[in-house]
Amino acid sequence: MAEQNAHLLLDQCMSPHVAMAQRDHVRLDWRPPYRTLARARPVAWTCACRATLYELCEGGGQAFIRRTVQLDGKPQIFETCRWSISEARLTWTALLSGRVR
Ligand SMILES: [Zn+2]
Repeated sequence: MAEQNAHLLLDQCMSPHVAMAQRDHVRLDWRPPYRTLARARPVAWTCACRATLYELCEGGGQAFIRRTVQLDGKPQIFETCRWSISEARLTWTALLSGRVR
């Protein structure tokens, strides 16, 4: 649904954009990447037209969200802690709708 709407509104955008963070949004703990989960792979991502790209990564029964800020060709990467897959998907949905950031 969100992908379709974004596609209609912004011609060339195929992936969802995060909504503006709500005033009382929950702040995630973003840390520099420290140890990559074995076989972690992105299963969802936001549109690359924005300077900040979010990816939901899953692997080995765990999941986390990766945030990449693309600045002057030097991407800055941060990751959340690891969650269960279901908890991570709930957080991903909250991120897209601006309830967490
Ligand atoms: Zn876009």
